[in-house]
Amino acid sequence: MNKVLNYINGNFQNHSNNFIDVEDPSKGEKITEVVNSNKEDFQLAIDTSLESQISWANTTPLKRSRVLSNYKNIIEQNLEKLAKVISLEHGKTFEDAKGSVIRGLEVVEFACGIPHLLKGEFSQNVGSGIDSWSIRQPLGVCAGITPFNFPAMVPMWMYPIAIACGNSFILKPSEKDPSCANLLAQMFSEAGLPDGVLNVLHGNKNVVDMLLTSTNINSISFVGSTPVAKYIYKTAAEHSKRVQALGGAKNHLLVMPDANIDQVVDGVMGAAFGSAGERCMAVSVVVAVGNIADDIINKVNDKSISLKVAPWTDPESEMGPVISKEHKNKILEYISKGIDEGAKIVLDGRNIHVQGYENGYFLGPTIFDNVTKDMTIYKEEIFGPVLSVVRVKNYEEGIKLINDHKYGNGSSIYTSDGEISRHFSTNINIGMVGINVPIPVPMAFHSFGGWKHSLFGDHAMHGIEGVRFFTKLKTVTSRWPKSIKSGAEYQMPTN
Ligand code: NAD
Repeated sequence: MNKVLNYINGNFQNHSNNFIDVEDPSKGEKITEVVNSNKEDFQLAIDTSLESQISWANTTPLKRSRVLSNYKNIIEQNLEKLAKVISLEHGKTFEDAKGSVIRGLEVVEFACGIPHLLKGEFSQNVGSGIDSWSIRQPLGVCAGITPFNFPAMVPMWMYPIAIACGNSFILKPSEKDPSCANLLAQMFSEAGLPDGVLNVLHGNKNVVDMLLTSTNINSISFVGSTPVAKYIYKTAAEHSKRVQALGGAKNHLLVMPDANIDQVVDGVMGAAFGSAGERCMAVSVVVAVGNIADDIINKVNDKSISLKVAPWTDPESEMGPVISKEHKNKILEYISKGIDEGAKIVLDGRNIHVQGYENGYFLGPTIFDNVTKDMTIYKEEIFGPVLSVVRVKNYEEGIKLINDHKYGNGSSIYTSDGEISRHFSTNINIGMVGINVPIPVPMAFHSFGGWKHSLFGDHAMHGIEGVRFFTKLKTVTSRWPKSIKSGAEYQMPTN
């Protein structure tokens, strides 16, 4: 069994002898263990990050871009290798894992344009003989803390842009599926990234706390659950860092009576049960307007019954297990609570049997009807294959319901009415909005981020928001000696 060690300064190494178990969720058994870093590991990561950043920041943006371009090619060549590691430790299907690497790769492609993205602004003659320009400079050492559900894509929302901007980066991946981060970092070295510019420091909360309180780290990027996001935002800000902390979600799909029901059903199936519902943009609530709920529920139910739940090694698998026994138990508790609080269970996925994988953390698709806004299964993020249907009388009731929810990551409307969809996209209190699109995840050249309790901080991830987050603005005002009139001026200069 190869243990998962830190990747620091271009080498796999560790001081700590403390390790955390990593499981294969399809089998429910330990497959490896990952180092839980100590102070010495942390100090080594900081020292190499500080040292390497100085020369990396002085490398021209064009040369940095060429390294990123090599990196893109290497990732493309290793797509299957990366997807295999993700599926093994996370449990998602192989095709889904491949897709998630490609969505991360798109951020690398975006970051290849860094010479253009870093162009500043210039104004000639802001005063007589005076010019002014703005430039964006790197922050220094940046750090990222990432969740289990996208072990390649979410880290890649962060470090390619941070590094393209001239920063060094310390990545603290989820301890539940840590191997992919090491592969990604090693491939960046192969692409020509100098040692120490990207370090992977593994561990749990202890390591996170070292990052949050370090005086040598200038920014924290976080993606994970809302309680942890709030803690990260507060603690990192107290330690004078720039922070972007993305939290949990409860994404609604509002269906108008004039929607194409077959498109709705296909959209709901993938969005609710893809990746076992463990996506921050998963649809967990269908809001059915008028009398269409029965039709949607019957059709989603029929498709859910035949959905293939199996390990990723089965090429026909459409849904794998959830990440851990603890998480499965949490989802089971939510399902019991839904029943106790009066929701109608239409499909119960609790007793699914996957032949040969009896110890795996599998759950079948679960559907609740007649869910109301005061129920726990409506208010809280379940993060599993559980779909709630809320029935509302009209559009106004539906949009109010969504706007009143504490989470604000993504939301979609299905309709054939352009006026309603325009009203929805304008007035919905949500960061990422879909119109006849179930999972409106922005592409790399736009930015990803929710509102309300789904994002703490001022900047979303990747796109131009990413470039702004990972750089600080400097504005220079300049004139040359011959244009300077003699004599002091005591009043505010005006033009
Ligand atoms: P998590 O919050 O448990 O863990 C995320 C990271 O924080 C991990 O690296 C973990 O080691 C660390 N961590 C955990 N507890 C901590 C603590 N008490 N103090 C400091 N650090 C801690 O999240 P998870 O279970 O890995 O991921 C699932 C969650 O992530 C869901 O809530 C999901 O909605 C959210 N998520 C959000 C987005 C988004 O874009 N908004 C994207 C992906 C996942």
